[in-house]
Amino acid sequence: MTGMNDVTPHPQRLYLCQLSTTTLPLAAGQTLQMSSGCYLVQMSDGTNVLIDSGLPADYTAPAGVPAAENEKDVLTHLRELGLRPEDIDLLICTHFDVDHAGYHDAFRNAELIVQRTHYERAKSGDPRYAAARAHWDHPALQYRLLDGDTELLPGLTVIETSGHAPGHQSVLVRLSQSGNVLLAVDAVVMQRLFTPERSAWPTDDNETQLRASTRKLLDIIEQEQVVLTVCGHDGGQWQTLKKAPESYE
Ligand SMILES: [Zn+2]
Repeated sequence: MTGMNDVTPHPQRLYLCQLSTTTLPLAAGQTLQMSSGCYLVQMSDGTNVLIDSGLPADYTAPAGVPAAENEKDVLTHLRELGLRPEDIDLLICTHFDVDHAGYHDAFRNAELIVQRTHYERAKSGDPRYAAARAHWDHPALQYRLLDGDTELLPGLTVIETSGHAPGHQSVLVRLSQSGNVLLAVDAVVMQRLFTPERSAWPTDDNETQLRASTRKLLDIIEQEQVVLTVCGHDGGQWQTLKKAPESYE
């Protein structure tokens, strides 16, 4: 027996791909473990959705910033999962910071999904997004511009979370076994920052928007019974996560 529900696709697998780690020195001999990642959602109908693409191959850390360690780029992750760049159908661009947009130009078959406010800010020449511009602004790429929260595919919703950057977006993935997973990305860089009265970091764009987006995500976690929120760069949290090639289902 088949009905409409049987053919409605749903997110079948979520892969968390760790791209690199960085150890930052703090005061008094302490260190902060940072981690970078990108994510892959495979829909039950075979649609492949990539979220972000990591640092570009030609990236060198600025003077004084420790080099990334344990690097494995997005193309290597995909290859290990049996995928080629042309197999990616949608690329959700959370924002165009260099550590998130460095391989976008590899995904020529994909439709790239970005918030209009973010795209226009970056296109206008904001120097913040210059480092990866050759990769996100390649003429072969096809963009779809969004205005706010959007259910892209059944069970896969982008959430506008300005603050870290104008038009930054997070992603909610509804999985049938694991439950609802929120990819906060850089709306919440570290778990310990996930409080309504948080202060912005120097790398954030707007503290008022950052707090509003934080409250929005906290509300969504409650309303949607989110079971896991993945932060953008929390090295400690990454140690607790199931990493590709394992998946959440
Ligand atoms: Zn970042």
